[in-house]
Amino acid sequence: MTTVYNFSAGPAVLPKDVLLQTQQELLDWHGSGMSVMEMSHRGPEFTQIIQEAEADLRDLMAIPAHYKVLFLQGGATTQFSAIPLNLIGRTGKADYVNTGHWSKGAIAEARRYGDIHVAASGEDRQFTYIPDLTRWQVRPDAAYLHYTPNETIGGVEFQSVPTVGDIPLVADMSSNILSRPVDVSRFGLIYAGAQKNIGPSGLVIVIVREDLLGHALPLTPKLMNYQLVADNDSMLNTPATFAVYVAGLIFKWLKAKGGVAAMEQINIAKADKIYAAIDGSQGFYRNPIDIACRSRMNIPFVLHDDALNAAFLKEAADHRLLQLKGHKSVGGMRASIYNAMPMDGVDALVSFMQDFAGRHT
Ligand SMILES: *Cc1c(COP(=O)(O)O)cnc(C)c1O
Repeated sequence: MTTVYNFSAGPAVLPKDVLLQTQQELLDWHGSGMSVMEMSHRGPEFTQIIQEAEADLRDLMAIPAHYKVLFLQGGATTQFSAIPLNLIGRTGKADYVNTGHWSKGAIAEARRYGDIHVAASGEDRQFTYIPDLTRWQVRPDAAYLHYTPNETIGGVEFQSVPTVGDIPLVADMSSNILSRPVDVSRFGLIYAGAQKNIGPSGLVIVIVREDLLGHALPLTPKLMNYQLVADNDSMLNTPATFAVYVAGLIFKWLKAKGGVAAMEQINIAKADKIYAAIDGSQGFYRNPIDIACRSRMNIPFVLHDDALNAAFLKEAADHRLLQLKGHKSVGGMRASIYNAMPMDGVDALVSFMQDFAGRHT
């Protein structure tokens, strides 16, 4: 089998061990004689699968008992609507921090449902930094404050959870969930599309404090109503059963690796190596983000001469380093190094970057 290192931003690399286990269990899950894909979502086998997935996620993130864990569909983007539909009803107002592409998407969607105010924005400097917390203008009657802890496209990441008083904090953790410990009790709601650090695309996980439920706008579709979904254990209709199963295997893989704290140490080491290669290249490569908010998960970089981009990508692919092309809105390259990217992949990328720079300077 060809071994490649896949630096895609998502859907992204999954742990080899998990893929192998999926393959082994594909036709016959634990002696059931059935594939997980073929099982009733209400049967005892799948009930065990989804309950274990939830229990393992609760363990990994130390999710307090007064938070619900919901397994939903439609990716993170559907939550851009579901969040205001469920949470804005208390005051009709919500505040958002705009740190880039995904924040903007969430803001645009939320505007359909109420009075939306941008409390802070990094747009004046092309989203290369995070506005200082002292300058955030959060309305005291905002029903919640939404932010994006890691901007997957821009490569900007919050290094700590902002302190915002009593206003429920809502976080789109799609691209950095489970990459570092977070204190869930600081949040009103956390959500994450699965295809970066959790598993197959389509699945989205919502972790929500119980007291925020019950304020959904009357027009909220049934399948987006958190209260109804919670009351029905994420089985209001057929959940994305196979995706939940794979996510559950990833959670077990993470626990075996020492959990989120151990993962954070590896992620710091991986990111440090790539940023060191960029910063040590004497201007051949450049990352435009303020050092204090550089992402550990998604590392965009440009070459000093755009004319070299095609050669870089071609030669990288020859070295089996794939999906390094940057998002069209940023240009250049982007290396996404989620939990499942092994250190060997980072080492291979760094030595290729150094070799390429040496030959093209
Ligand atoms: C990928 C991503 C999304 C969109 O996820 P979909 O599953 O495609 O809807 C939203 N927010 C962030 C931060 C992302 O990285």
